[in-house]
Amino acid sequence: MTQDIETVESQPQQPVSSGNPFAEIVRKQRDFFNSGASKSAEFRIKQLKNLKEAFHKHHENLEKALYEDLRKSKTEAFATEIGIMIAEIEHNMKNIRKWMQPKKVKTPLFFMPGKSRIHYEPFGVSLIISPWNYPVKNLFGPVLGAMTAGNCSVLKPSEVSPYTSAVAKKMVDEFFDPEFMTVVEGGVPETSELLKLKWDYIFFTGGTEIGRIIYQAAAKQLAPCTLELGGKSPTIVDKDINLDVTAKRLCWGKFVNAGQTCVAPDYLLVHKDIKQKLIEKLKETINEFYGENPAESPDLGRIISDRHYNRIKNLIDGDVIFGGQCDESQRYIAPTIIDNVSPDAKVMQQEIFGPILPIIEYENVDEAIAFINDREKPLALYLFSNNENVRRKIIDNTSSGGVCINETIMHMASPEMPFGGVGNSGMGAYNGRFGFDTFSHKKPVMTRSFLFDVKQKYAPFNAKKLNFVKFALKRLI
Ligand code: NAD
Repeated sequence: MTQDIETVESQPQQPVSSGNPFAEIVRKQRDFFNSGASKSAEFRIKQLKNLKEAFHKHHENLEKALYEDLRKSKTEAFATEIGIMIAEIEHNMKNIRKWMQPKKVKTPLFFMPGKSRIHYEPFGVSLIISPWNYPVKNLFGPVLGAMTAGNCSVLKPSEVSPYTSAVAKKMVDEFFDPEFMTVVEGGVPETSELLKLKWDYIFFTGGTEIGRIIYQAAAKQLAPCTLELGGKSPTIVDKDINLDVTAKRLCWGKFVNAGQTCVAPDYLLVHKDIKQKLIEKLKETINEFYGENPAESPDLGRIISDRHYNRIKNLIDGDVIFGGQCDESQRYIAPTIIDNVSPDAKVMQQEIFGPILPIIEYENVDEAIAFINDREKPLALYLFSNNENVRRKIIDNTSSGGVCINETIMHMASPEMPFGGVGNSGMGAYNGRFGFDTFSHKKPVMTRSFLFDVKQKYAPFNAKKLNFVKFALKRLI
């Protein structure tokens, strides 16, 4: 019985993972989940409080770890990782009782007398795999959804951000019972072993290629799965804009975390009438943010690893009109602008995930739309325009995980909106209520009365009964 629960035995492609180093952790979590202890509002609220306390207690440790891993400044660490997580925990604490209430829905006349409710049921034991770029937010953000919905969780932080991974483990070990939540540190071998176990939910954030591996592992065991992936998020800059604010918001979105942001504006499609002015303003803004020598700025992060440093450095090619300086010893890459970029350029063949901003010019907004639609569906699409017709045209004629108009990145931080991708940029979403929904099975419960039993639905059938069913389906549902 235990093995049935813990391993995916029915799959011939997937060997029984006896001796799996993590089987015992998952077995204990499943026993705990099956005890029903994680389902009450009181238990969940207690866990949310624990998480908040863990963040307060380890605030400094997290700051130090984020500095070691990515050289994030304290302000950036607070705004994009620690502070935002605390705000989200508080939001969930405020709303959890309301979200947990079964939702009343209409009962069609044909089913009367009766009532209909949608219950929110936790899936069970979830696996949450996270990347290194926002190693706090992208780990604990999904955890927050899982916890609010009453699931147990095993967390697998990225091995590429080892300092933050270690602090996350310390926080969870100190504040949570491992039967409810625990951290498994490690890389591909550990994740591969984890994926052999049976899960009730798998939540993955990372690159599209690894996303395929995760989806296959989930498919083998029919585990529901969310994939938060990446891609090239385009930014269209129309001619009808506030130049100053546009440049600031673009530079912020592009260079925060040294460009290593899943929703960073990857490249610009700029109306030819405004291009030159925008370029000048972007240069000015970079100087204003990071000084004449950005390498000396305490506010500009570093590239996470030598592998990514070399990958990004190799993308700097062609008409480099600003920046371009690199320093291997620090894994420093300057904010860089490349103009007149060809769609075939190296920098346009992959998600940049670094501080390089390619610029492509357009004359007519239809060209920009066609350019975007020729490529995989992006995680985010940005548009800077004061023109309502242009805005509507772009929203109606493109597909992306989300859209943010006259701003970058902010849309993903609102707990009132779902954040997630579409097509190659992922499937499923989270944030606030949407994280709770993701980790809850929406279970419809219809309760009928014993009164008014409609005989026409029972055999033996005849023409009269068929006519009644036809009438009922047309008029009463
Ligand atoms: P990644 O896909 O390399 O790694 C993510 C996680 O998968 C890590 O925990 C890693 O240990 C694990 N992993 C790596 N290879 C594996 C394998 N072969 N089998 C099983 N597990 C494996 O991603 P990354 O480099 O850490 O992050 C960068 C990518 O993540 C970018 O593409 C970025 O756009 C994307 N991202 C997306 C979001 C989002 O919310 N949509 C957020 C952050 C990052």
